[in-house]
Amino acid sequence: MKLNTGMNDRFAYRAYQMMHPDTKADRIARSRAIAKILSGGGIGLALSTWLCFRFGVGLTVAAFVYLIEILLLSLMNCLVCSAIFSVIAVGCLDFFFTLPIFSFRVNSVQDVAALVAFLTTSLVVTSLVHRARQLSEFHRKQAQLLDLTRDSVMVRDMDDVITYWNNGAEALYGWKKEEVLGKVADSVLRTRFPVALGDIKESLFATGRWEGELINTRRDGLQAAVETRWALLRNDQGRPIATLETSTDITERKRKEEALHHVARLTTAGELGASLAHELAQPLCEITAYTTASLRWLDRDAPNLEEALTCLRRVVNESKRLAELFRRVRMLAKRTPPQMTRLEINEVVNDVIPLVQREVLNHSVTLKTKLATGLPVVLGDRIQLAQVMTNLIMNGIQAMVNVEDRARELLIELRRSDEGSVIVAVQDSGKGIDAENASKLFEPFFTTKPEGMGVGLSICRSIVRAHGGELRAMNNAGYSATFEFSLPSITGNAPEE
Ligand code: ADP
Repeated sequence: MKLNTGMNDRFAYRAYQMMHPDTKADRIARSRAIAKILSGGGIGLALSTWLCFRFGVGLTVAAFVYLIEILLLSLMNCLVCSAIFSVIAVGCLDFFFTLPIFSFRVNSVQDVAALVAFLTTSLVVTSLVHRARQLSEFHRKQAQLLDLTRDSVMVRDMDDVITYWNNGAEALYGWKKEEVLGKVADSVLRTRFPVALGDIKESLFATGRWEGELINTRRDGLQAAVETRWALLRNDQGRPIATLETSTDITERKRKEEALHHVARLTTAGELGASLAHELAQPLCEITAYTTASLRWLDRDAPNLEEALTCLRRVVNESKRLAELFRRVRMLAKRTPPQMTRLEINEVVNDVIPLVQREVLNHSVTLKTKLATGLPVVLGDRIQLAQVMTNLIMNGIQAMVNVEDRARELLIELRRSDEGSVIVAVQDSGKGIDAENASKLFEPFFTTKPEGMGVGLSICRSIVRAHGGELRAMNNAGYSATFEFSLPSITGNAPEE
């Protein structure tokens, strides 16, 4: 086996050693052990022969004494030694305990049958003990192998009680094996599931597997994000008996992803900056104008309260508009951990439209929406989904900047797929996707724009996938492109918070 200094290879080598204990040192140790068993067993056999003979016990009792001795020897895990002692014991029984004694001749057929029965029993028992020991040794080594992986491995029975917990799980969650074995997994880990637990179990029972991301709580109270793989274990009759759960710690990766998402949101907010400034300035001008007017209505010899009130009501309306705009901008710029809630996707579109409205007008784009009614509810992070939509809309607008010979149209369509998920499609009338770029669009840092960062689509895809959906890009007939993503609808119970 080739050895490297790399961590993985060291693990692999230790694993290899465990399964193949055949080094020179192992062989020497084993020979010594056999020599000890042979000499110890030989002394024991001689002693018991002397005792049995001295006390004049019969063939049956002597055979039992030998059988017990051979059984004890077979526990030493040396099949050859036990076989040798079985043959020697038959010889002793024949020589000392069957007539004529002190001779290997046997007179009665019964004695021959007894000796054959002894030899058979002794060999069968020895080999059974040997097999049982080998099996338990094999299982012990397999369990040790599972301890070598840095992933956490846990087995839960059908009542969710933990029956196996490896070293990786100890390191990740901080709970020792003896502290968690026999406890209900949820009481230890307080797991937060991405979708309803009922849906997860349904898929596990249907396919035998489930994969996803979970948030578990560690012993110190901190949260650990894990990428987990569940496999259902069934008995020979096909009845589910346990779930094997292997999890990889992705807390650090998630933290970096979140930071990157935040940067991307800030970039989007930056791209929108000029239009947003305009959008915010407008209600401010209105507020100033209406306040001045109301002051004028009041600052008369005969104040006109009616007109002043009308102006002040307009001030209130414009202030509300301003506050709402600020809320949406803050939503994009704020750094918050993802929060999965039940969402009507129309609401997210309504969040996004005011933010891109000015950009749409500045680029002479006509924004159309086709929002279906009665769409299923989805489970998602409102800010992340708004970010995905904003990115797709901004890309669509930018893809149309050079379009002069046709209308610049952007269509946001919401519909339900045949499988019941919600589809959000953003269709532009731009130049479409170049064939040579099609496979690279979602790669991080791929951009064809002079000022582009090339992270928008890759982040959008990772967000959509984390929601259990998929983001696709396609060219439409003639020109123009459509970017659409799907989100699974909530069918079962409310998600576990
Ligand atoms: P960026 O916008 O910074 O370039 P993205 O990841 O959002 O980064 O986009 C990557 C590339 O995908 C863009 O540079 C562009 O070439 C292509 N692309 C994105 N949206 C469209 C679209 N609606 N039509 C045509 N090409 C697009």
